[in-house]
Amino acid sequence: MAKNGEGTLSWLRHRNRERVLGVLRERGRISQADIARITGLSRTTVHTLVSELKDSGVLHEVEAGVPGSRGGRPAVLLMLRDSSLAVVGIDFGHSHVGVAVADIGHNVLAERRCDLDVSHHAEKALDTATRMVGEVLAEAQVERKSVIGAGIGIPGPVDRVQGTVGSATILPGWLGLRIGSEMQDRLAMPVEIENDANLGALAELTWGAGRECSNFAYVKVATGIGAGLVIGGKLLRGASGTAGEIGHTTLDEAGALCYCGNRGCLETVASGPAIIELVGLINGEVPTLSRIVELAVAGELRCHRAIADAGHEIGVAIAGLCNLINPERVVVGGLLSRTGEVLLHPMRESIRRHAVQAAAETLEVVPAVFVERAELLGSLALALQSSSDRMATANGGARP
Ligand SMILES: [Zn+2]
Repeated sequence: MAKNGEGTLSWLRHRNRERVLGVLRERGRISQADIARITGLSRTTVHTLVSELKDSGVLHEVEAGVPGSRGGRPAVLLMLRDSSLAVVGIDFGHSHVGVAVADIGHNVLAERRCDLDVSHHAEKALDTATRMVGEVLAEAQVERKSVIGAGIGIPGPVDRVQGTVGSATILPGWLGLRIGSEMQDRLAMPVEIENDANLGALAELTWGAGRECSNFAYVKVATGIGAGLVIGGKLLRGASGTAGEIGHTTLDEAGALCYCGNRGCLETVASGPAIIELVGLINGEVPTLSRIVELAVAGELRCHRAIADAGHEIGVAIAGLCNLINPERVVVGGLLSRTGEVLLHPMRESIRRHAVQAAAETLEVVPAVFVERAELLGSLALALQSSSDRMATANGGARP
């Protein structure tokens, strides 16, 4: 039923213009061809809209040179001219807080990181992050009133409706804390919270290995194993936000007991602690996961084998995922992705062996562009995306 002129030519033009602007807000710098691909609008329509936006001073052209991209990029990209607007990203790790500010052209203007026992001291972590936001804004010379939103990353499952942490075992000091409203009060700006694997997926979608991809799975392999699923250019969150918990895929019903309460989960055989236990003592000491990664790359046989076997097991779980969502690409991030082919080669072989042929043969398995900064950049991308959604809603609900 028509309302507000819905279906008329001018309504359609307005809607298409908002879609183009929405993509620019989300992606920062982007080519005309990519705008057409993402919006589904014809190249001619995009060309006309872009020309109008350039003439009215809303858009300008910039030289290619995307941070973190590999290989050849198109020569001319488009970006929004209004770089006075900014977003804030906050990354809570188990033992650190990271904070960054970016303009809506997706340029990271300042970032800081400090070590802190975040898992056990939630209030202190929130206060520290609040202070650091003030510091990065001052450093980037961005006024607080220009900040249109903040994205917050949590290293565990997130209840987005309640704005709370969804697991007592992963972040013991955070149980029941309403992170969303606490931070909204402290920062006086809209905030969104998200788990680490989903943020890794957003970082790769916005700046990294998922840039030209509408359907991909980001798999974080570190202390835990989780996935962020991007379908049609959007994160798939599921009914209660647990979509992508592949770390708790059952591989062996009679296997070892997992901390989640089930048996034989992928994490019981391929997570950081499982690999550390499997490797055992190296020169009389229990090695850290970082050390195992270094040794595996250097060819130390036990470390190499432990990580290769983990890659194989993770591949079994990913094969199931591929049968369900048929992604174009699997982007592998997290600390273990630093081992490159040590992890990726057996993972590819295992996917090929266990997934249906049609899903496996078109699939690329590639390392993530970001490892240490994935969650921080992802929290910026989350803020950019949510701000874009809010603006589109305010402008008449034109999101595709
Ligand atoms: Zn489990």
